Amino acid sequence: MRYAVLSDAHGNLEALEAVLKEAEAIGYDRLLFLGDFVGYGANPNECVELIREKAYLAVLGNHDSAVLHPEEADYFNEFARRAVLWTRERLTKENMNYLASLPFTAKPEGNILVVHASPHKPEKWDYILSIYDAEFHFGHFSEPICLFGHSHIPGIFIREPDGKITMIEDEPLKLDDSRRFLINPGSVGQPRDLDWRASFGLLDTEKRVFEFFRVEYDVDKAQLKIKEAGLPEVLAERLAIGY
Ligand code: ZN
Repeated sequence: MRYAVLSDAHGNLEALEAVLKEAEAIGYDRLLFLGDFVGYGANPNECVELIREKAYLAVLGNHDSAVLHPEEADYFNEFARRAVLWTRERLTKENMNYLASLPFTAKPEGNILVVHASPHKPEKWDYILSIYDAEFHFGHFSEPICLFGHSHIPGIFIREPDGKITMIEDEPLKLDDSRRFLINPGSVGQPRDLDWRASFGLLDTEKRVFEFFRVEYDVDKAQLKIKEAGLPEVLAERLAIGY
């Protein structure tokens, strides 16, 4: 099975369409979406509808949840909160209902766990940024592979049989049976690793390989739409620097 693994689209339709085109050109069997359909970008409805149409399964992200329950946005920074409230005013009832139907975790098959933020209490939206974070979360799931997003930083944490944790950034990795993996495909719609290109991954369970891909998209158009929508300008500016 070849899984296209996408996360954190955040209403950026230009990035999402470019990633879907590239994923289709490479070829995949099932698409997994790791949450945050909306928030930040100017096309929330289009992104929800396109992902819903293409995804084999999807989980709820913290921005999706905040659009449904705006009191959760009190914990967001000012720009993220304004984008959540902007999105809430525009999302159709049908798209709201779809987001409300999504689980915190899902399993496309027995060996793979899918979450937005982290396997331990996924509703708390903890970040997995360091080897220390990864070590804690490896203790709170049993599958060999956990796919997660939320940080918008692509990379893989690896747990060796002796318990040692290492990390690789965005190189292809052979997923051998003796080790366990926490894998982040990076963000489609708002990368934060100082590379502006949209990020996604491909998990091949037969060849047992995970690969990262970066895709150029019309960032000028996505920025212009954010400004024209009256969303905070910083949300447009950060797209060009990948932060
Ligand atoms: Zn996100």
